[in-house]
Amino acid sequence: MLVDRYGRAITYLRISVTDRCNLRCQYCMPEEGTDLFAKSEILSYEELDEVVAVAVELGITKFRITGGEPLVRKDLPAWIGRLRARVPGIRSLAITTNGLLLAPHAAALRAAGIDKVNLSLDSFDREVFARLTRRDSLADVLEGLSAAEAAGFPVIKLNAVLMRGWNDREIPTFLDVARRRRLHVRFIEFMPNGEWNDPSLVVPVGEVVEAIQAAGFVADRGPDGHGPARYWRHPEGVGTAGVISPVTAKFCENCNRIRLNARGELRGCLLDEEMVPLRDALRAQGRDGIRKAFLRTLSMKPEKHYDVRTFHMSTIGG
Ligand code: SAM
Ligand code: SF4
Repeated sequence: MLVDRYGRAITYLRISVTDRCNLRCQYCMPEEGTDLFAKSEILSYEELDEVVAVAVELGITKFRITGGEPLVRKDLPAWIGRLRARVPGIRSLAITTNGLLLAPHAAALRAAGIDKVNLSLDSFDREVFARLTRRDSLADVLEGLSAAEAAGFPVIKLNAVLMRGWNDREIPTFLDVARRRRLHVRFIEFMPNGEWNDPSLVVPVGEVVEAIQAAGFVADRGPDGHGPARYWRHPEGVGTAGVISPVTAKFCENCNRIRLNARGELRGCLLDEEMVPLRDALRAQGRDGIRKAFLRTLSMKPEKHYDVRTFHMSTIGG
């Protein structure tokens, strides 16, 4: 079991498989995209298998595949299937996606062994979606969401980053979805960053909780047991609504996660720029190198994070 300097057990690894993306969300990427990692720098699927095998050996049981947009990486569902077969001991394997390519891939992802899907969708309004993501693709995302429901994933979460003046008026629409569909709708507090460093866009979580309760939702355990989200359920509803508040209510003392970016750098905290170069260690020393990189990341994991940084979320996957 991996335990850091502050007594936190680390059981969760988020793996970014690419820094490429088919959207250009204003809060995440500039219109022209970011400087992309070179192909030779990116960990191959075989190398990722090794990383996951060592992580499982060290007591990590929960994994999330993210990006950039993970579904733009070629043959992702086939890799997931191979990973599941090669590395027993993975308890939970989730994916975070913008949903654009989910319709063609949802069934294959489920068959390959993905248990949980987090779909990021900030607006049900076509015009707002297009302005926010710089792509007029809402219809594809909605189709992806329906395909995920049809594919029978045990857990589907719909994550919406709320921003004042952009989509805060859609809270009732999202709550209606949480009543009618078997989904966990989660309102995520916007994190001002290098792309959009405007704290006035943050919708404080207290305001969202008030709206949820005013709509008749009552406190619920939610799908996670314990995690950074708090949940509510409508007495007549089939889904839940939740909130995550990295800005106004931090959850660092219970943080159980570390992150790996697509070029094989480990990060102890989303908002810490210190990274451990796992790829070189892996290529020089194999599993031993991976082990050392995990232990070094743990020794550097900060006690808590700060608010505003200058990195692009797309390179580390949120
Ligand atoms: N492309 C995939 C997607 O959008 O789901 C996965 C990567 S994306 C970086 C992961 C999550 O980070 C998304 O839900 C996105 O909304 C969130 N995110 C990106 N920038 C953010 C910011 N400044 N504040 C809050 N959440 C952010
Ligand atoms: Fe792409 Fe996800 Fe970033 Fe949007 S939030 S630009 S979908 S990586």
